[in-house]
Amino acid sequence: MKDTKTLFQHGTLALLVPGLFDGTIKMDEFMKHGDTGIGTGEGLDGELIVVAGVAYQIDGAGNVNKLDSRFTLPFGNMHFADYQPLKQVDGLDFVNFPENILATGGLANSFFSVKLHGTFKTMQTRSIDKQSKPYHTLAECAGKQHVFDGEDKTGTVIAYYAPQLFNGVAVGGFHSHFLADDLSQGGHILDFTGFSGDVELQVFDNLAQSLPVNDPEFKNHDFSKDDIEGAIKASE
Ligand SMILES: [Zn+2]
Repeated sequence: MKDTKTLFQHGTLALLVPGLFDGTIKMDEFMKHGDTGIGTGEGLDGELIVVAGVAYQIDGAGNVNKLDSRFTLPFGNMHFADYQPLKQVDGLDFVNFPENILATGGLANSFFSVKLHGTFKTMQTRSIDKQSKPYHTLAECAGKQHVFDGEDKTGTVIAYYAPQLFNGVAVGGFHSHFLADDLSQGGHILDFTGFSGDVELQVFDNLAQSLPVNDPEFKNHDFSKDDIEGAIKASE
């Protein structure tokens, strides 16, 4: 039976802050942990979204590509979907999205995923070109992001929420990626307006944290000097 109560996380966003972008898990291994997820590729090679067991990369040019099993990731979240209907909304904006979901009550201290499907009046996403070594910091790379603006898009948002109390292992708050049904747009969400459609929720009992323990750079990096929260707030 599929474990729908566990959120799998490989790496952490904190690894990306100082520029630890080496791919430390292969797509075929990552996909063993679910059929739904988000992540980024080696060298920040695009934004990833996994919907219904199919993995897509939104590359720096904004193209939506299907991923093969050899693709590697420094960071990703994955789970087996068992979303429950939460509500229908009409005209929800991204700026109000966290408050709208947390108003459900009793969620703030849990890991959970939210799936949206419907239409978005506007959708703004970003992606980053693959970086080459030596890698710069996340903040430096975020300055090179490409921004894509869509209008009247129908598609899916996969969002993960981490409680503030786990800041560090995760980054407190929501991390959301988008994929248009017609594959015309995708990426890490910067903003959307006017979402009308279905909101579904899946709460996790367990967090399975996988670390790149065979990666020499990870093993030897001193994280004590990285402003992890500041850098992620600025670039995510
Ligand atoms: Zn992202």
